Amino acid sequence: MKFVLDTHTHTIASGHAYSTIHDYIEVAKKKGLELVAFTDHGPAMPGGPNIFHIGNQRVIPREIDGVEILRGVEANIIDYDGRIDISENYLKKLDLVLASLHDVCIEPGTREENTRAFIKAMDNEYIDIIAHPGNPKFPINIDDFVLNAREKNKIIEINNSTFTNPGRSGSRDNCIMIARKAKEYGAFVVAGSDAHISFDVGNFQKSIEVFKLVEMPEELIMNTSKQKLKGYLKAKGKELQERTSISIR
Ligand SMILES: [Zn+2]
Ligand SMILES: [Zn+2]
Repeated sequence: MKFVLDTHTHTIASGHAYSTIHDYIEVAKKKGLELVAFTDHGPAMPGGPNIFHIGNQRVIPREIDGVEILRGVEANIIDYDGRIDISENYLKKLDLVLASLHDVCIEPGTREENTRAFIKAMDNEYIDIIAHPGNPKFPINIDDFVLNAREKNKIIEINNSTFTNPGRSGSRDNCIMIARKAKEYGAFVVAGSDAHISFDVGNFQKSIEVFKLVEMPEELIMNTSKQKLKGYLKAKGKELQERTSISIR
């Protein structure tokens, strides 16, 4: 099984990341990745980008040096009704929308509140991926969460950085439980590097270990084919158009 794409990366615009699009493309190409999504944080993240940074991504070529690019965001869920920090007129221009809970943007709630926040966010048609739901700071009802993701056609991320983030210890057990349920219910999953520096793009080792452990079927894993991910997005009405391709080296 080959992992050819990364749906979760941060550039310097996120405020606490260290690389540019240039840097990412260079490393992605060396690692043989076929597609990278840029998903800087939404504006509610302290030090995060202005909304104009999210909205201006049409200037980013669709393909650089043979690496395809998706224009994205990691939106912050800002209340337990699942509201996010990006409005519809921005969301509809993006290729890929991640939504996640960060404790600097929302106080961790009870298990019921956190679960509700995710499930309500899934009602937002523009959201594609729920990022790092395995974070133990935000305990969830895993059964409800995965069942809703399956019913609402959302992709569940098994976040690679979560396993090594000291603030998220205990993630591995949660991720294994989430992955087991995703397999049981037939929900889509994706490994995200959540890279905050270019060298981490395409790093999925820990996520892949979880997929192997639960024997996740390849058809549920979104990283193994560009066509599978893009087909999913197009079926939701995302156009992924204005094809521009450049080469810089
Ligand atoms: Zn995040
Ligand atoms: Zn992230």
